[in-house]
Order: sequence, then C-alpha cells, then structure tokens
Amino acid sequence: MRDENCIFCKIIAGEIPSRTIFENEDFKVILDVNPASKGHALILPKNHCANIYEIDEDLLAKAAKLAKKLAEHMSGQLKCDGFNILQNNGEVAGQTVFHFHIHLIPRYHGMKNKDLLNWTHEEFTAEEQDQICEKIKLK
Ligand code: 5GP
Ligand code: ZN
Repeated sequence: MRDENCIFCKIIAGEIPSRTIFENEDFKVILDVNPASKGHALILPKNHCANIYEIDEDLLAKAAKLAKKLAEHMSGQLKCDGFNILQNNGEVAGQTVFHFHIHLIPRYHGMKNKDLLNWTHEEFTAEEQDQICEKIKLK
C-alpha cells in the first residue's frame, strides 16, 4: 500500500507538495519537479509498487488508458509536436525513484533536450540475433 521511505508515497499522501494535473482513486498525475520539457508529467499509482514486475496488470492497463487520455489532452493544450511515454525499471535502466511511474514527455521542435532519447546501436551478428529471438520468443 504505502512505503514509509518513498518520496512518491509522500507526494500521494499530500505530505510533500506537488503540482497535480489529475487525480482519481487509483492515480495521481503530477508535474515532474525537474522537467525534461514543458509539461513533463508523471503518472503515479496510489498504491506503492516498485516497478513493472510488481504492478498489478489490471492497474497497469488502467495506467495505459490514462496515458493515452493525457497524451491527447496535453498535446492539444500544449500544442506540442510529439510525445514520449517512458517507464524505467531498475537503476541500470535509469530508475531513480523506486515507485512505479510513467513519464509523459511532450516534445517540441527545437527544444533544448532534443537528444533526450538518442542512443547508439549495438552490433550483434545474425546468429546472435537468432539466438536472442529464440530466447525471448513468447510461446
Ligand atoms: P525515474 O528516473 O525514476 O524514471 O524518474 C523519476 C522522476 O521523478 C525524475 O524525472 C525526477 O525529476 C522526478 N522527481 C523526483 N523527486 C520528485 C519530487 O519530489 N517531486 C516531483 N514532482 N518529481 C520528482
Ligand atoms: Zn511509494
């Protein structure tokens, strides 16, 4: 339900202030305190869970629906040119707050953070790719 040491649980409880753009019984959606772009927001489930592995799948489905609704609404209001929806799991993946959250990041032509998601590609042989494909195939 709640983790006493979790900053997002404290925000959800109203113990730490935040700018809230939406709230219902399952979620609170707040502006990110260090935004990557104008309107960068976070969908927080009210019940504490650390990551994608822990979140209830029905709640995750509701979060996905909410992400779509907000992406449409925010894009209309902010007149952004594109939109990223991100979700990090684990320190190595860039997660810094270990309470599940979905980033809603409006993107704009000419914005400061234009390289936000620019990664270089890794090289794998065709054989390696075949093995990887076989290993992660969902049967
Ligand atoms: P992560 O790196 O875990 O995917 O994202 C965590 C996000 O939470 C970061 O973008 C960070 O700026 C934001 N954040 C961390 N602490 C606070 C806070 O106290 N208030 C708000 N509104 N955002 C926070
Ligand atoms: Zn929490």
